This record gives sequence, C-alpha cells and structure tokens, in this order.
Amino acid sequence: MVLRLVFLGPPGAGKGTIAQRLCEAHGLLQISTGDLLREEAGKGTELGDRVKAIMESGKYVEDSTVAELVENKLKELGEKGFILDGFPRTIAQAETLEGILDKLGLKLNGAFDIEASDETIVERLSGRRSCGKCGKIYHLKNIQPKEEGKCDGCGSDLVQRNDDKPEVVKTRLETYKEKTAPLVKYYKEKGLLKVVDANGEVDENMQNVEAILKGVE
Ligand code: ADP
Repeated sequence: MVLRLVFLGPPGAGKGTIAQRLCEAHGLLQISTGDLLREEAGKGTELGDRVKAIMESGKYVEDSTVAELVENKLKELGEKGFILDGFPRTIAQAETLEGILDKLGLKLNGAFDIEASDETIVERLSGRRSCGKCGKIYHLKNIQPKEEGKCDGCGSDLVQRNDDKPEVVKTRLETYKEKTAPLVKYYKEKGLLKVVDANGEVDENMQNVEAILKGVE
C-alpha cells in the first residue's frame, strides 16, 4: 500500500524529526511546508522577504502561497507515497488539499496528530538546531551530531532558527491553537485521525508511530 499521510501537531512536538525518519524507512517523500517556505524566504525576492517576515513573527503565511508550493510538489510525485509535514494548517488548507488530491486521483490514508506536552515543546524548541543547508534536525541534548555544530549528513554548520527564539515560540503556540487545532476534529470526523504520543525519546516515538502504521489501510 502506498502511504499518503498528513502530520498535525504543535510546533516542537517532533513532526519534522518523525517525518524525516519515517520517510527514510518507507521510501516516502517528505513535503515540509516549513522547509519549502524557508527556501522561498532565502531567495531575496519580494515574495521571499514577505514570507520571511511572517515566519519570524510566528504567524502563518497565507493559504494561497502555501497551497501553490504543495500542489507543485504533489504534481511531481507520480506513484510515490508522501508525508505532508506541516500542511494543512488551517481548515481552508485542508479543503484545498482535498481538491488537489481529487484532481490527481489520490487519497490520504491517515492524519497523524503528533502530540507532546507544553513543557516538552518548550524544551525541544529551545534546544533545536538544524542544518543550514539540508535541513536535518538535531537537538543540543536529545539528538546530538557526531561532531559538535556540524551536520552528520553534509558537514554544514548547524543553526538555530529565528522563530525558535522564546518570544516567537509563544506566538507560534497561540497560532497553532487558534488555527490548526480545529483540524484534529476535522480529520477525526473523516475517520483518518491517529493520535501519536510523542513525549518520549525519539526511538520510543518512532515505535509508537510504526505500531499505528500497522493498522493503517
Ligand atoms: P513548526 O511546525 O515547528 O512550527 P515549520 O517549519 O513547520 O515549524 O513552520 C515554520 C513556520 O512556517 C510557521 O510558523 C509558519 O509561519 C510557516 N508555515 C509552515 N507551514 C505553513 C502552512 N501550512 N501554512 C501557513 N504557514 C506555514
């Protein structure tokens, strides 16, 4: 069966880390709207500068911009499975996604809600570092690279994201609760919701996810 999943869950719960590992293990394409937008933000274009300012404020980029980025990726996919990591984030985006998938003749198999307590989230975001080049995620304590400050994969410097600074994290959590939390109910009503307890160590969380995947058809 080809896996086509969406990942919900508050910032810092570990969506990106779990998505990266699951994609490696199952040969899926990870479509992270955060990564796509950061790429856009680095281009120095008018659109890029606008996206950068929104992201650094902790608010959401407008639905149409994000939907276009996702649609372009999904069109390239063919028969490959995917994890949409961080999309949809609003009800409007979820409806747009349905339209895009319908057009492509594809169906989702599950919406995974990656959950962690507020305390865990703050600890994870403050210690998160990621590769400035390939985006691989690390943590000062929990996921250390082999060589301090360098990416295991490509050797580039690890950086802290501007939006992981404490003053922005607060806004991101509020934005999530207001705009994205309603999607949990939306996918529950569609019979697609699976809740993942991601409070534990990365390996433990991966076992939880793999156990849930066995029940996905
Ligand atoms: P996290 O899930 O940890 O918040 P991401 O890298 O997924 O981190 O997202 C970072 C930022 O990118 C968000 O705070 C938001 O500004 C923007 N963003 C990502 N995905 C979306 C989306 N689907 N809709 C609107 N904005 C988005």
